[in-house]
Amino acid sequence: MGRQVLVTGGTGYIGSHTVVELQAVGFDVVIIDDLSNSSADVVDKIEKISGIRPAFEVFNLLDSVKLEAFFEKYSKIEAIIHFAAFKAVGESVAKPLAYYRNNLVSLMNILDCMSKYKVPNLVFSSSCTVYGQPDQLPVTENTPKKDAESPYGNTKAISEEVLRDVVKVTPDIKVIALRYFNPIGAHPSALIGELPSGIPNNLVPFITQTAAGIRKQLSIFGDDYNTPDGSCVRDYINVVDLAKAHVVAINRLLNNSNADRYEFFNVGTGTGASVLEVVKTFEEATGVKVNYKIVARRPGDIEKIYADTTIANTVLGWKAETSLHDTLLSAWNWEKKIRNIE
Ligand code: UDP
Repeated sequence: MGRQVLVTGGTGYIGSHTVVELQAVGFDVVIIDDLSNSSADVVDKIEKISGIRPAFEVFNLLDSVKLEAFFEKYSKIEAIIHFAAFKAVGESVAKPLAYYRNNLVSLMNILDCMSKYKVPNLVFSSSCTVYGQPDQLPVTENTPKKDAESPYGNTKAISEEVLRDVVKVTPDIKVIALRYFNPIGAHPSALIGELPSGIPNNLVPFITQTAAGIRKQLSIFGDDYNTPDGSCVRDYINVVDLAKAHVVAINRLLNNSNADRYEFFNVGTGTGASVLEVVKTFEEATGVKVNYKIVARRPGDIEKIYADTTIANTVLGWKAETSLHDTLLSAWNWEKKIRNIE
């Protein structure tokens, strides 16, 4: 058995892909998930891909009694990747307290247990949302953070500050925060992928559902931005590439004792793509037309953002590898599989 890693939110979108990549290099993975936004059969799919069934415990991380019992039971855990969190921007505006409580208290419960049960290493899911609309592009890790646009974004910004302050006074703990740009796509097996509940908020699930005929039309939110074609620009990162960044981060925590105890990295491709480019690339990759119309801007959207990934490339030795074309094709293959489309 390899070294043991806990993945919270391990049946979720990024979590499940990360479990598979951890298993592929020999880690012994244990998942905690409360299944609030995922389903238990993801564990079967993980097993189908890797040939290894991860240990799986179902509970919510706000339950500190259960979390302590968990660490009593799994005493060999050496590192934690903490994905479990609420992530819907719009919902967070409507339910700020639920977001602050869930995302912050669960992190604090984990930090308490790291001290109590001597688990020294944590990888935290952060987000490029901490930058807001930066004054200069691409954004580096040192680009000043702006006020968050939503309670969700604020939970990520606050979590990073909590981690920085805790690490300062807890010499036994090391943390790497990964600031994700826009994760998209699915596993090449099409066994795991993103499963939004209800109408998708995010661009790529909306595109694939429109292509599959589940949605009538994609609304493109604005074509009058100060960008080459007027639509917003983002840095779309392949979910398997993103998962691999977590494996690299875990290895760095476990094996590099000279690293700073609190580090944070941008995880993106380094290249921006506009909404219209994404639609066009999807159509080229799949041969399927996407019915769309241009509508008004979506409140709260930033105009453009993409990552400077130099630090992740050089310090972590990690780089995004998959093209936007191949990533969009993987998203379509996943959508087709779950909808039984030939
Ligand atoms: N977008 C769009 N139509 C949609 C969903 C998203 O035009 O139905 C645009 C959105 O305005 C943004 C980009 O796609 O410019 C990415 O949005 P998403 O919600 O996926 O991620 P965000 O960057 O907002 O977190």
